[in-house]
Parts: sequence; C-alpha cells; structure tokens
Amino acid sequence: MTEFRPETRAVHLPQPAVEGSRPLGMPIYQSAGFAFDDPEMMGAAMGDPDGAFVYGRYTNPTVRALETAVSGLEGGAAALAAASGMGAINTVLLALLKPGDHLIAQRSLYGGTAAMINELVGRFGMTVTHVPENDPDALRAAVRPETRLVYLETISNPMALVADLPAMCATARELGVLSVVDNTFATPVLCRPLEHGADVVVHSTTKYLSGHSDVIGGIAVFADPELHGKVWHFATELGSAAEPFTSWLTLRGLQTLPLRMERHCANADFLATRLAAHPAVSAVHWPGLPSHPSYELAAKLLPAFGGVFSFDLAGGRAAGEAFMKSVRLALLAPSLGGVETRVMHPATTSHRTLDAEELARHGVGEGMVRIAAGIEHPEDLWADVAQALG
Ligand SMILES: *Cc1c(COP(=O)(O)O)cnc(C)c1O
Repeated sequence: MTEFRPETRAVHLPQPAVEGSRPLGMPIYQSAGFAFDDPEMMGAAMGDPDGAFVYGRYTNPTVRALETAVSGLEGGAAALAAASGMGAINTVLLALLKPGDHLIAQRSLYGGTAAMINELVGRFGMTVTHVPENDPDALRAAVRPETRLVYLETISNPMALVADLPAMCATARELGVLSVVDNTFATPVLCRPLEHGADVVVHSTTKYLSGHSDVIGGIAVFADPELHGKVWHFATELGSAAEPFTSWLTLRGLQTLPLRMERHCANADFLATRLAAHPAVSAVHWPGLPSHPSYELAAKLLPAFGGVFSFDLAGGRAAGEAFMKSVRLALLAPSLGGVETRVMHPATTSHRTLDAEELARHGVGEGMVRIAAGIEHPEDLWADVAQALG
C-alpha cells in the first residue's frame, strides 16, 4: 500500500493476518460485508446458507459462531440468529405460513407471539385453534388438511405450565404438521425440544442465553438443514438478522449458562417453597411444587424446574400493588433471565390489555406476582420478599 497517497492508504487499512495462534475469545467481526478475490465465489455465497461470508444481512462470522454454539447446545442441524426473540419467531412463522393456512397454538402464549398470531389471522387470512399444551387428543381433533404448524412453549408465562413435548411433537409429526417450540424459559440446559421430536426451537436470547440484561436478540434452531435453508433465504429478504456485537455478548453469556441456570432454579425453589408456606400467599405456581398441574410431567421431562414462577396474594389486586411498592432488592422490571431478581404484577403490566376472560385463560389473577429469580444469595432474596409481604 506504500505506493498509494495518504488519502488512499487511510481508506485501505492493513489487517494483520492471524497465523500460528488463534484468539481465545471469538472476535467481533464488526464488518458489514466481505471482499472477495474470486467473483464466482461471491455470486455463489449470496445464495448459500453455508457459503462464504458475503454480507451482514445474510450472516457474519460472529453471528455464525453464536448460531453454531446454540445449535450445538440444542442438538440441531443449523440455526438462524435474529435481532430479537420476536424477530426469530416472526421470521419462522412468516417463512413457513401462507394465507389460508391453519395453525394450532397452545392456549397460553407469550404476549408478543399471541399478538402476532392475531395479526396473521386478522390481516393475512390464516386461522388458529388453541389447545392445551399437554393434550395430544385435542391436537389430533383440531388438525385440518390446511394445518401447517403447531406452536408450543416448553414452560409458559406466568403460570409455568410445562408442555408435554414428547406427546405433542410426536402427534404433530404423525399428522404431518411441523412443530415449533419456544424454549426461552427452559433453555437447552433444562430441555432440548428437538430431542423430543420438535422441528424448530426458538429463543429470545435476550433472556437466559445472554443472561446479563444487555442484549436484545433471538435465534431459531432447526432439526433439518433444508428447513433452515428455506427460512434463511426468507430471512435475508426480511432483514431480521442479528448483528455482531450483540451476538458476541450472547456468546459470552452462553459460557456460564449452565452455572447460572443451576442457581436460577435453586433460588426459585427456595423462594417458591417458602412462599407456599406463607399466610399471605394463596397459591404458588412453580412446577417443582407437587400442587402445580405440571409437576409430574416436569419431574419426568426436566432436570430442574426453571427460574420463573408466580404466586397469588390472598389480598388480591391491592396486595399485589402493595408488594410491588415494597420490594427493595428485587427489581420492578419486565423481562427475565438476567442475573438480578425481578418482580412484576402481570395484571397491570404484561397482561394489562387482556379482558377478564382472557386473564382467566392465561391463569392470571389480580393479586398475582411473577418472580424471575436471579443468582443472588437466596436468604437475601427471601428477606426482601418476606418484608414486602408485610
Ligand atoms: C421475551 C420473550 C419473547 C420475545 O423476545 P424479545 O427478545 O423480547 O423479542 C418470546 N418468547 C418468550 C417466551 C419470551 O420470554
């Protein structure tokens, strides 16, 4: 480059070759695109999910590192990272569904997913049937010739209902219908839906996978590389791609995912057990308690029962609102999966737009509090929760 003038040399900066050693951490390839020596290779890369890196909307080495890592943890063939959990979910739904299609979804769904399904029905000419997350006979009865996919969540919000993935995914497969499972609450540490017959697993990596409340991201993992290729082609057109820095943060979080999940689950156990014995609490919804409707299934399916649960205050809405005002250590915040414990009151926040009938369908009571247990010392958390209960 020394033959060029400073204006040109400033643009064409030298890059050191990394040879003879390799970086310990995955580098952040903060590059929008890639330069080629061979024009034919460049053309081929544009149409091939496994081709050379060409443009950031198609993929990027740091994003690919995340896709490979999560795909490996879930036992998939390939993955597609997205700009958010909803970005991953919508990419999958829009790539696989067309007007006239019918989908079957479990009754209780993440709010954003429920809203998107309403859009698909209201504006894109699709139909939906809701079935319980653990009822393969209801699934069988709901299926029609135009049914294209079944949508499930491993652990639901805020009741922490556990889907009977082995039965539901096997039934979907037998009926020739794809199954898509949102595994955000369980993570691959607690459950790998592809091992139970699911076709696609989706995650909000915003939550446990990144784990430190500094990322908005999502990912879809596919059992079949052909299905991945199909959705990848659509994603390059949709423009839902993840970007390198958030992928790097997510990779960093992933390295401690199993350790964090162990503590999240242990803290949830500690709090749920003590809350269940407290006189101000009328019910605790955590699948590790024998009183929970998913207890037996969860004990069979999961090595631990998750870090998110909810409980009902006997004093109803007023007690729920008072609890929110009284916590000091736990943060009053949406979302979950970070190292810090969060509390929220679904009836006035995440589920505020639902009417009484819909609240009942989601099992959300007026005095319900949701806790996403962090990784703090459990006694400090209990002291805070106990003082907030009054
Ligand atoms: C948060 C969440 C989503 C949406 O993810 P974003 O990253 O917020 O877009 C989807 N499903 C579940 C279960 C979630 O908790």
